[in-house]
Amino acid sequence: MFIGGTVISSVEFHGNMSLVIFMSGCPLCCRFCHNVELINEQTEITLEEIVEEINSSKDFLDAVVISGGEPLIQTSDVADILRHVRQLNLKTKLDTSGIYPEELEKLLKEDLIDFISLDIKAPFDDYRHVVGEDVGCDVKKSMELINEYGVMLETRTTVVPTLHTDDDIRKIACSAKSDIYTVQQFRNKNVLDPSLEKVKNPNAVELTELAKSLKDHFDGTVRVKTGEFGLQIIK
Ligand code: SF4
Repeated sequence: MFIGGTVISSVEFHGNMSLVIFMSGCPLCCRFCHNVELINEQTEITLEEIVEEINSSKDFLDAVVISGGEPLIQTSDVADILRHVRQLNLKTKLDTSGIYPEELEKLLKEDLIDFISLDIKAPFDDYRHVVGEDVGCDVKKSMELINEYGVMLETRTTVVPTLHTDDDIRKIACSAKSDIYTVQQFRNKNVLDPSLEKVKNPNAVELTELAKSLKDHFDGTVRVKTGEFGLQIIK
């Protein structure tokens, strides 16, 4: 398998001390992507090596998070890792763009994931405008599958001022069927498309106001994540 690296973090999964494994590679080229190095990095590692890394830190871990890149281009390796994590009785989380519902269902069928963060990068019928490809139907299908299998779900959108309007975000929130919806602030550093480095980051106060307005459109918990104020739950 190919990974971009690993890190131990308590901010990726509700305060759980987690080993985060960044799987490399992603077929999308989102202009606002911050994970360019992780996508392109191609460190080959065996299952035995990653198992050894998990085992060596398992005594102080609560969870293992599989992130990326897009982990589901290496589903069979991800499944092998998650099966081992399950044996250790640690919690599991998957971050995905949702563009591979059939791959996702393989993991759901085996009950390998406790929590999923699914990006909804645009209204489902407007994906081409934001990521360059019409993959909204696949993302919607992934969301429906996760709900069908009863796995706890966060949907989330990184708000980019030149790509999203407030109405887009409200439309996404209306169609998101998840326990949590998180609005994330675009940061104009180290992005795939250098022209976006000239775009101003969304104002944190205005973004928080936008998140507050989503309470009328979304049933679950609304959160907003900004560089200035961190992760806030909207009451
Ligand atoms: S933002 Fe996510 S889906 Fe888009 S290119 Fe980066 S890793 Fe892939």
